[in-house]
Amino acid sequence: MSTAVLEAPAEVRTEPIEPSAITPRLKLKWDILLGIAAIHAGLVFAPFTFNWSAFRVFIVLQAVTALGITLCFHRLLTHRSFQVPKWLEYALTLCGTLALQGGVIKWVATHRVHHAFSDRPQDPHSPKRGFWWAHVFWLFAYDDVLDHETKCWAYAPDLARDKVHMFLHRTHVLWTVILGLLLFAWGGWPFVVWGIFVRTAFVYHGTWLVNSAAHIWGYQSYDTNEGSRNNWWVALVSYGEGWHNNHHAYPSSAAHGLRWWEVDVTYAVIRLLWLAGLATEIRLPRGNPAKLPAIDLSRLAKLRWAAPNLARRARLTLPNPVRIAS
Ligand SMILES: [Zn+2]
Ligand SMILES: [Zn+2]
Repeated sequence: MSTAVLEAPAEVRTEPIEPSAITPRLKLKWDILLGIAAIHAGLVFAPFTFNWSAFRVFIVLQAVTALGITLCFHRLLTHRSFQVPKWLEYALTLCGTLALQGGVIKWVATHRVHHAFSDRPQDPHSPKRGFWWAHVFWLFAYDDVLDHETKCWAYAPDLARDKVHMFLHRTHVLWTVILGLLLFAWGGWPFVVWGIFVRTAFVYHGTWLVNSAAHIWGYQSYDTNEGSRNNWWVALVSYGEGWHNNHHAYPSSAAHGLRWWEVDVTYAVIRLLWLAGLATEIRLPRGNPAKLPAIDLSRLAKLRWAAPNLARRARLTLPNPVRIAS
């Protein structure tokens, strides 16, 4: 049981791979669009199915699945900011998978590309293309690399090599279906509406606000050459992920809230796991903050769909293709 203080920056490990895809034209992913629309359509039934038992199911499941994303998909798997025993890593990955945010390998690959190209044309969800693009619309657009079954593995080879992670990745929707059936058997439609639809929508927007609001509104403690912000109200609804400028500055740090008042529930849970002897090698900020290669962010203006053309016209100096390996 130890707390290792490692050097920053260590956000990107490199090995050759083709540059991340830029969306040259919008190709819609109808399955994702209809799936997210269906989750939100389920909210209509929330007032008619409310009971306190269903609400308790909502509270417990939103905590379990939101932490599955923030603690596991993000801080453990994407950034390896601490370690847990393998059995716990898989169990936490299942919790994150139940948030219905796609397979774990693609989630991690997408987020690593975001850090490598934050607010550049290759960023999958920069609000430079507009708030709603960063919040949700980017999820509907086909990306030649990140939506390619095997190409996206190059950004998360550590997970792609792991049979259990690959299994959970490939079966990710199935787990929500199983949970839905169990909830129906246990408490009928109220449990399904509150435990699946309301809960999933709630966790969606908590996660999505980190990509949208926390790259637009808030303060910057560090000059990271991109647009991430520390935003207290996003931190409140996202278990501490709203301290996003701190995170871009020290991506390997398990703690995102770095001042005493920057409340970070996810890090508190990591500390509890540490007290229980389950989390080790906890990384904390040290050294100079990470900074992307200089770029005139004002010249990016709105990227919109035709990002490559706009980038060329603005004669942007893009960072070298960033490569990520194990
Ligand atoms: Zn970010
Ligand atoms: Zn991150």
